[in-house]
Amino acid sequence: MFDKILIANRGEIALRVVRAAREMGIKSVAVHSTADSDAMHVRMADEAICIGPPPSGQSYLSFPAILSACEITGAQAIHPGYGFLSENAAFVQAVEDHGLTFIGPTAEHIRVMGDKIAAKDTMKALGVPCVPGSDGGVPNVEAARSIAAEIGYPVIIKATAGGGGRGMKVAKSEAEIERAFQTARSEAKAAFGNDEVYIEKYLQKPRHIEIQVFGDGKGRAVHLGERDCSLQRRHQKVFEEAPGPAITEELRARIGKTCAEAVAKINYAGAGTIEFLFEDDEFYFIEMNTRLQVEHPVTEAIFGVDLVREQIRVAAGLPMSFQQDDLHIRGHAIEVRINAEKLPNFAPCPGRITQYHAPGGLGVRMDSALYDGYRIPPYYDSLIAKLIVHGQDRAEALARLNRALGELIVDGVDTTVPLHNALLSEPDILSGNYNIHWLERWLEQALQK
Ligand code: ADP
Repeated sequence: MFDKILIANRGEIALRVVRAAREMGIKSVAVHSTADSDAMHVRMADEAICIGPPPSGQSYLSFPAILSACEITGAQAIHPGYGFLSENAAFVQAVEDHGLTFIGPTAEHIRVMGDKIAAKDTMKALGVPCVPGSDGGVPNVEAARSIAAEIGYPVIIKATAGGGGRGMKVAKSEAEIERAFQTARSEAKAAFGNDEVYIEKYLQKPRHIEIQVFGDGKGRAVHLGERDCSLQRRHQKVFEEAPGPAITEELRARIGKTCAEAVAKINYAGAGTIEFLFEDDEFYFIEMNTRLQVEHPVTEAIFGVDLVREQIRVAAGLPMSFQQDDLHIRGHAIEVRINAEKLPNFAPCPGRITQYHAPGGLGVRMDSALYDGYRIPPYYDSLIAKLIVHGQDRAEALARLNRALGELIVDGVDTTVPLHNALLSEPDILSGNYNIHWLERWLEQALQK
């Protein structure tokens, strides 16, 4: 096992990894930009090292800064958290070239899954169901038109190098295809430096269902059920739950087995998420995330496992501490993402926290790096806390979420807490009757009122 690991991240996820490492008797090294000198992950880690100025390109994304920090502190492995360098194959290669261990999958797996067309081809070959669409990239408008005619409108044009919901355009009919194609292309070029796009059938009322998988890198893998993350705004998840309200035991067993077998076959190492759109009881693969997800705690809650601990174990060459037969769902968990944003426009709202009080009690987990007097810097993501509740069933989890939100105090900045409070009085949310368009439509109506 490692003696010391470095965490190439900040905020709540850096703290999350510090906690797992400490429980395992492993020393942790925090890295931080000059804007984060007073951050909680810096205070909580065993050691901390400043790696550059506020812009993440010069700090949290800087290979030389992070690798030097490992050398200076003697850290043997790097946990990337999510975002930043977590899905950067070149970084993984650099880490390995320096004789260090990356806590995550291989550079090759990250590279393949980071290219959406290659990912889809790989998954199709492994027997994972995919959305009908083009075979690979679509070179021009004429090709787009003929593929769209074949699969039927509406279609969605997506960037091969896409991520974060950017570079996607829907065409409802042939009249819209040319414009959608050109716009997706130029957005993709601007955002990812790669203008290749592909086409998929646009599903009209799907849920976003993702399967948590975990592999040992040596041909064994398990699944840990699904998360329903359909409540999204601009393709950003807002509210996540497990198990999914629409997923039966039979559906879970079937798709879970397919996913676990697929990652076992490719000798996948560590945590991964296979994302699907789910409509009329069918799953359609959209992408695989080769890292820990923001919403991993809902899975931890219902399975009673520590996914970060497991990631560290597998990276150190140890076997997984559970097999499929050990994994049983207990109860229901919900996570809400609390962002420092001003409603109704969700404008980022950095600033000083004048008062902070975290909720507690049975079945409540607050993953946050906030504290009284903390100043949220304006340079990074606006996620400031994840509130996760666990109950014996969905009704208890919802009641607990309501109770916990009532206890939470975050003063000094605007947050998305009022959104979560409002959602909890919506009949569709209470009954679990929603799809990926529900939240956007609801927000539009709420704004008109
Ligand atoms: P990104 O990597 O940019 O997040 P994804 O492929 O994961 O892109 O898609 C993000 C979101 O876009 C999905 O959760 C869904 O809301 C929507 N989406 C993507 N593909 C389709 C599709 N074929 N039909 C309907 N919605 C889609």
